[in-house]
Amino acid sequence: GLSMQTLIVTGGAGFIGGNFVRHALAHGAARVVVVDALTYAGHRESLAGLEEDLRFEFVRADIGDRAAMAALFGRVAPAAVVNFAAETHVDRSIDDPLPFVTTNVLGTAVLLEAARRHWRALPEAQRSSFRFLHVSTDEVYGTLGPEGRFSETTPYAPNSPYAASKAGADHLLRAWHETYGLPVLVTNCSNNYGPWQYPEKLIPLMVLNALEGRALPIYGDGGNVRDWLFVEDHCEGIARVLEAGRPGEHYNIGGECERSNLEVVEGICAVLERVRPAAANPALAARGITSYGALKTFVPDRPGHDRRYAIDAAKIRAELGWAPRHDFEAGLEATVRWYLENAGWCAAVTRDHYDGGRLGLGAEP
Ligand code: NAD
Repeated sequence: GLSMQTLIVTGGAGFIGGNFVRHALAHGAARVVVVDALTYAGHRESLAGLEEDLRFEFVRADIGDRAAMAALFGRVAPAAVVNFAAETHVDRSIDDPLPFVTTNVLGTAVLLEAARRHWRALPEAQRSSFRFLHVSTDEVYGTLGPEGRFSETTPYAPNSPYAASKAGADHLLRAWHETYGLPVLVTNCSNNYGPWQYPEKLIPLMVLNALEGRALPIYGDGGNVRDWLFVEDHCEGIARVLEAGRPGEHYNIGGECERSNLEVVEGICAVLERVRPAAANPALAARGITSYGALKTFVPDRPGHDRRYAIDAAKIRAELGWAPRHDFEAGLEATVRWYLENAGWCAAVTRDHYDGGRLGLGAEP
């Protein structure tokens, strides 16, 4: 389990990694060493407050840096590695795919090799309890029609450069298990939402745009469906897999909570109307806009846009007793409130190079 263990958490200054670091420290981890390159998506501010914890350490390094990774494993001697480090934004992968291959495929290979060299030199007892957990996505499975869900045996059929790079990494994990016997675990999770998500992703982008009275850009007809999971539920799932998952296995993690993009955007608008009514928002009032919903703007669809994702989480439910605990409407409201209460964090992470992603900050509606 997490208790009394030393973990290396890569990508820990990002959205899910940062939430997981807090979860691990709150659940008795002996030591958590975060390794993060601090790309545009990674921010020390997301780990604020953890510096006082003597069990926490931050190392700025790239998972693709062989010398740095070898030195790190030698010094830290982790019982487990949880790999979150990745380029993660689909729109960016369409505009500029090579950094996705570099970090997600090659970086993962470098990290696997550093882990393997550390692992094979361990005494037998520690070698069998060592774990390399790789955090992956449901996007590796491609797209679904209106029916069906992804299971662990669904064939890989990635459609975006992001998804293909994540699929490539997952295959490396398999090979390091089959060829070398490295005790690996792979989790494939659906769309996460919650605190500390970088505001280029759907939910925080819409919240910040709405508050500023900017357009809420919605791809195509808004009918693309995602299976939404509150980030804390994902972190609990990862912790369960780390504790009790069988090496070499994949575990799908999902909220079994399908919502179209349009439903998500309308849900955000509804929460904002309750919490900070548009009629009382000077940014909107100045332009004579009286509802957040009036900011919705349909834009041309993303190329290769997967229509629907849905996860069948029966395996992790039955084998490891995991189940999501957050209801989507309550989780969405908590998330919107978090962004309202953490304007300082939003300002800090968007201070440099912020363009809101491909959808941008939107035109004036
Ligand atoms: P994120 O973009 O918020 O964070 C990624 C972190 O990785 C950042 O802190 C960044 O600085 C760091 N990083 C990037 N390249 C690096 C490198 N070469 N070396 C070291 N650090 C590097 O992403 P996220 O949403 O927290 O996703 C984390 C992981 O979970 C990713 O592997 C992603 O594919 C996976 N995942 C995400 C979701 C989701 O909905 N967000 C769903 C399923 C799986």
